[in-house]
Amino acid sequence: MKKIVILGAGESGVGAALLAKQKGFEVFVSDKNDIKENFRKELENAQIPYESGQHTEGSLLAADEIIKSPGIPDKVPFLKAAKAKGISIIGEIEFAYRFIGKSKIIAITGSNGKTTTTSLTYHILKNGGLDVAVGGNIGKSFARLLAEEKEHYIYVLELSSFQLDDVKTFSPYISMILNITPDHLDRYDYKMPNYVAAKFRIAMNQTEDDILIFNEDDVEIKRYMDKNPVSANEWGISTHFESEILRGRFDMSKTPLRGPHNYFNASCAIAAAIVCGVGDAKIQEGLETFKNAPHRLENVATIDNITFLNDSKATNVDSVYWALRAMDKPTILILGGQDKGNDYTQIAALVKEKVIAVVALGADNQKIMDFFKTNIETKSAKEAVEKSFALAKAYQNNKKTESASSVKIEVAVLLSPACASFDLFKNYEDRGDLFKKEVLALRSS
Ligand code: ADP
Repeated sequence: MKKIVILGAGESGVGAALLAKQKGFEVFVSDKNDIKENFRKELENAQIPYESGQHTEGSLLAADEIIKSPGIPDKVPFLKAAKAKGISIIGEIEFAYRFIGKSKIIAITGSNGKTTTTSLTYHILKNGGLDVAVGGNIGKSFARLLAEEKEHYIYVLELSSFQLDDVKTFSPYISMILNITPDHLDRYDYKMPNYVAAKFRIAMNQTEDDILIFNEDDVEIKRYMDKNPVSANEWGISTHFESEILRGRFDMSKTPLRGPHNYFNASCAIAAAIVCGVGDAKIQEGLETFKNAPHRLENVATIDNITFLNDSKATNVDSVYWALRAMDKPTILILGGQDKGNDYTQIAALVKEKVIAVVALGADNQKIMDFFKTNIETKSAKEAVEKSFALAKAYQNNKKTESASSVKIEVAVLLSPACASFDLFKNYEDRGDLFKKEVLALRSS
């Protein structure tokens, strides 16, 4: 029996283990860290042996094939040893792909907008009556979907560049590359071309029967495609406010999606739905009934004409750029956290145009305070919300005195941090949830 060793017992590793066991392989799971209780239980219930807190090199090198979790870089010594021994090393996506039968895949990658576009594509297709499942980098892993659910006609998968690093033959019917801006460069030797090439692995096995939907205004995408032609049919979508596909055909004002980036995401999802044969009326209905995941430009509450927006998932500068593009009121911007080598030049002009104050929120705020010449420093969600509210009030009072009238002065407070959250919070969800809690506390006081 073929021996499969799975490295990492998170959602993707456990999904792969369940699928491998079901397909009759001898499976062993190894995780260097503690395995979470729910995953441990699943492995035990499926009678899959595992080790936790260590990788025993002997058992790993006994494998016929290793499936590694996306978090583990190639460079770790035992993977090098495995490679030298000729053991095949793949990722969970590649493994699951071997078992898809006649199903079709829509795979979505990009630096920003993956979750929004993946869930929207899924929602529109489902609303259009298609037999569709969603997973990958969100919700259930691809392997788990195959192990636990009946076979679906279409799988809509969100894929990160790390997941794409470990595909070999994986070939979606429709692939999407939403944008490529600097992120995770530490995994790519700090070289942008390496990161771009990882994203394009989504299309490397596509043929002329397949479709690549891509951002035609993205310089990195354009540069790569000029040098490396793809075999798939190309469908370029513009990020201009009303892409060709939307104009006069779909009414975005009736949808919860705001801002040019979301119009772009919607255009990509619509393009996929058109390819899959969903009619315009059903697409429009899907757009209108869509509910985005929280922490993405999420409207929290409006108190005294001050609207609080939670965009905690904005963990790089590009996503803040697009959040600011979507702002139609004078804005107080809460920015900061764990820096990823950010260059704030991209948002400098928009901050000048739309932002009345930058509030820094992080353990170390110096870089932000220096760049934006602000002295407003906070160390907790509570402090950030309260200071922003006071600043917004002061702005309204000033404006009222200036105009000496009773006109409504609207202000936005936008948490769009551009940084990772781990300095002060557990994760971006924790940061967003605490922000929302403090806003709601303001409202009840
Ligand atoms: P991902 O899954 O790629 O992280 P999300 O849909 O979760 O993407 O959104 C992450 C952040 O990026 C949010 O702040 C969101 O408002 C912003 N965003 C969404 N779509 C885009 C886009 N097309 N371009 C730039 N930023 C985007």
